[in-house]
Amino acid sequence: MRNKLLTLTVTGALVLGGVSISSPTVNAVGEGPNYGGNEMVNNSILHTHEELVDFLHKQEAKQDHMELEVIGQSVQGRDLHLVKYMQDPENPTILFLTQQHGNEALTTEGALDFIKHLGTQKMKGVLDGVNVLVVPRLNVDGAMGDVNFSLDDYVGDGDYNLTRYNAEQVDLNRDHVDRIQPETKALHDNVMGAYDIDYMIDLHHQGTQSERDGDLVSGSILYPTTENADPDVVTKSKQLGAVVFDAIDSKGWGHLGKYNGGSAETISRNGIAVEYGISTLLFEMRGMADHYYKPYALGQKSNGYLIKQTVETLDATTRAIADGSVNEKDVSFWDTLSYQSTRTTE
Ligand SMILES: [Zn+2]
Repeated sequence: MRNKLLTLTVTGALVLGGVSISSPTVNAVGEGPNYGGNEMVNNSILHTHEELVDFLHKQEAKQDHMELEVIGQSVQGRDLHLVKYMQDPENPTILFLTQQHGNEALTTEGALDFIKHLGTQKMKGVLDGVNVLVVPRLNVDGAMGDVNFSLDDYVGDGDYNLTRYNAEQVDLNRDHVDRIQPETKALHDNVMGAYDIDYMIDLHHQGTQSERDGDLVSGSILYPTTENADPDVVTKSKQLGAVVFDAIDSKGWGHLGKYNGGSAETISRNGIAVEYGISTLLFEMRGMADHYYKPYALGQKSNGYLIKQTVETLDATTRAIADGSVNEKDVSFWDTLSYQSTRTTE
């Protein structure tokens, strides 16, 4: 009797141990540690500006179909890059834009992984049906904390801090109408207005406490919500969102909500849809790499699945546009998808 009990207890412990060790889903659906949990926020895994430029040049040298273009310079004089895969001008084109906000960094890490991925056998043939543009890290100064205002209160641990704003303390994602800042001007003059773009995903990070249906989200998505956007453009944006939702929400680590976003056209999701007729999707991933408001910062233990979430998003949408399946997507899930809400803690 005692032996049997002992066996059960040991087996139970092993099973529990197995679940917590082998299944990333236990921690991944929004339950990774925040700042002030059991770890710090460490920026050392992120590409510095120099490392990012070096990475892009190395990939360009390795990949036949990849072209690198400098589209302008930041306030502090850093080059802004556009990565291009344009095999056939007749094909539909998607643009992936990351890090308009310098402290929302893992989407750029994911985009760099995706660029590498595009040069591998796994993507063979896909680029015959779609053109891919990537602007990795629009806010290059904020990403290096090279700004004209104090970052004393920021929590990030490392040689530098990362900030939402550009060097002039301007939110680039509220500058898409006036384009006063060199970063947004370069994006509009040399990318949005220079290429025939059909789709755009604008990748961001949000706070850590957003939830949908009782679980913290790995991210939230939204289409253009200004009434001035062409209904056909909005439908295609919703279809693009359906590709992302199906690819991510089905994963053990994925849980997506509907983002509660405004209708201002100074925001790229709205303004770019109206001005260029591009179908846009906002993707707000969980937690930021640095912030002065501690509940927004997310510990590095969540880096893996959030970078993976970016790569999966870019991969799934690129493939769905290449094979045309994006055009078959049912958009009715948007009507039942709950808006995310903010979890209240005591
Ligand atoms: Zn953002």
